[in-house]
Amino acid sequence: MGAQLVWFKRDLRAHDHAGLAAAASSGGPVLCLYIVEPWLWAQPDYSGRHYAFLTETLADLDRALRARGGTLTVRTGEAVAVLDALHRQTPIDAIHAHEETGLIATWERDRAVAQWARRHSIAFIEHRQNGVIRALPSRNGWAKRWEAFMSQPVIPAPARFQDAGAPSEPIPAPEALGLAPDPCPGRQTGGRRQAVADLESFLFARGRDYRRAMSSPVSAFDACSRLSAHLALGAISVREAYQGAGRALTAHRAAGEVGFARSVESFISRLHWHCHFMQKFEDEPELATRDLHPAYRGARPEADPDTLKRWIEGRTGLPFLDACMRALDHTGWLNFRMRAMAAAFSSYHLWQDWKRPAQALARRFTDFEPGIHYPQFQMQSGVTGVNTPRIYNPVKQSMDQDPDGVFIARWVPELAALPAPFRHQPWTAPQGVLEAAGVQLGVTYTDRIVDHEQAAREAKAKLTALRRSAGHGPASDAIQARHGSRKSGLKQTGSATRRRKAKAAPDPAQGSLF
Ligand SMILES: Cc1cc2nc3c(=O)[nH]c(=O)nc-3n(C[C@H](O)[C@H](O)[C@H](O)COP(=O)(O)OP(=O)(O)OC[C@H]3O[C@@H](n4cnc5c(N)ncnc54)[C@H](O)[C@@H]3O)c2cc1C
Repeated sequence: MGAQLVWFKRDLRAHDHAGLAAAASSGGPVLCLYIVEPWLWAQPDYSGRHYAFLTETLADLDRALRARGGTLTVRTGEAVAVLDALHRQTPIDAIHAHEETGLIATWERDRAVAQWARRHSIAFIEHRQNGVIRALPSRNGWAKRWEAFMSQPVIPAPARFQDAGAPSEPIPAPEALGLAPDPCPGRQTGGRRQAVADLESFLFARGRDYRRAMSSPVSAFDACSRLSAHLALGAISVREAYQGAGRALTAHRAAGEVGFARSVESFISRLHWHCHFMQKFEDEPELATRDLHPAYRGARPEADPDTLKRWIEGRTGLPFLDACMRALDHTGWLNFRMRAMAAAFSSYHLWQDWKRPAQALARRFTDFEPGIHYPQFQMQSGVTGVNTPRIYNPVKQSMDQDPDGVFIARWVPELAALPAPFRHQPWTAPQGVLEAAGVQLGVTYTDRIVDHEQAAREAKAKLTALRRSAGHGPASDAIQARHGSRKSGLKQTGSATRRRKAKAAPDPAQGSLF
């Protein structure tokens, strides 16, 4: 009897794992494999912090497999070459993987593996792991199917299975993959045990004020679930998070904790968004490289390297934005609203094409998930043609989300001695106040990269011209028909959807979905 090979990719868990359960139930030897793919780590959206988080998650997966009689075999190379070598040593009967919603390159790799498996008469079985539906003909009925999948019982981790005994190779050092040093001292720790702990502490303690606290970076680091990086590698499944939230909801309602229950409801709606965005990417992986709406293609120049560097390193001279970028560099995470503001600033105020900024942010986010990141970046950059463009004013956000300037003081220490009201816009401070605080604009803290109000006005005018261009409306309608949410009833800007009556109030932080 040949081995059942479980090819782990972005599903690094033993629980709720259809492929592992199927392989274990065969009763034969099981080969659990993770392939470190050098070509993947050479992509411009991957970085050292992703790799560090991955290695922690793999170590935890190995522990979980060992507790069940198995082990994780790690190999490095091209997937087909690795599988071919393994098959010669340990004949393989079937490969179990999950349906990966990924970059075009990962699609091509999966197709190559499928062809190789066919040539060797090996079954290649791809299991579904979240609410995304492969080869979806239409979005109609998608939300119901999401609910049905999430409500199915979580698949238990196999109690024990027989290990195929394929030896593991050491995990390559990041330098060996060409990854630049990427210290991220405040990064989350990877692994399922941490993921489960984060979910529990969110649902029963940290998440109480989630609805109110999620928008400000002062409170969001604690008040948000912080599950995204774990979900991106599949250390925990969306279904586990959904069902955990369902249990918390029941408990909070029974205890009369109305506010906490509403927070958990908001969290559940975001789990829908997770799959909603990934479904777009599943249907159109070109979203990583091409503006969704044709009218915006080539409308902005490719990002200027110096401008891009100032933006990503937090040296724009807009203190709150700079604080966000520096916090992100240090921690690998930022809350939704600040991500949206950062993306919008690069696309509107700086009027840069979104692709390089999107890659630069992807490298900073420990939770980089192509299927959320690229559709979100496009939406926040106003290139979908179906969402109301949202130009965040970084000074207004600063006053709203960090009224006392504590976040700025922490991450932009050059301004910490300024009285709080002037930290939001130091260029308005009287000379004497600046001097007393030891601030010299243009010397100790950079001058503004743009006058943000004027830049926003100019961006609005350019957008209006683009939206009035011939063919804009019909293309928007086609996009809405293909990718639009059928459930939200949110206000859209395509002409067909403008006619449809909105049923639910849009989430102010999210804007309209596309
Ligand atoms: C420009 C931009 C890029 C983004 N890139 C990513 C990314 O690479 N990976 C990623 O997971 N999220 C991304 N997001 C969405 C969102 O900001 C993060 O999911 C969230 O901040 C993660 O923190 P959390 O797990 O504590 O989220 P919570 O607020 O606790 O939400 C729970 C989960 O719901 C999902 N979710 C929440 N908000 C959204 C949203 N707006 N769209 C889609 N799914 C959502 C995520 O899976 C998240 O883990 C991006 C948003 C923007 C504006």
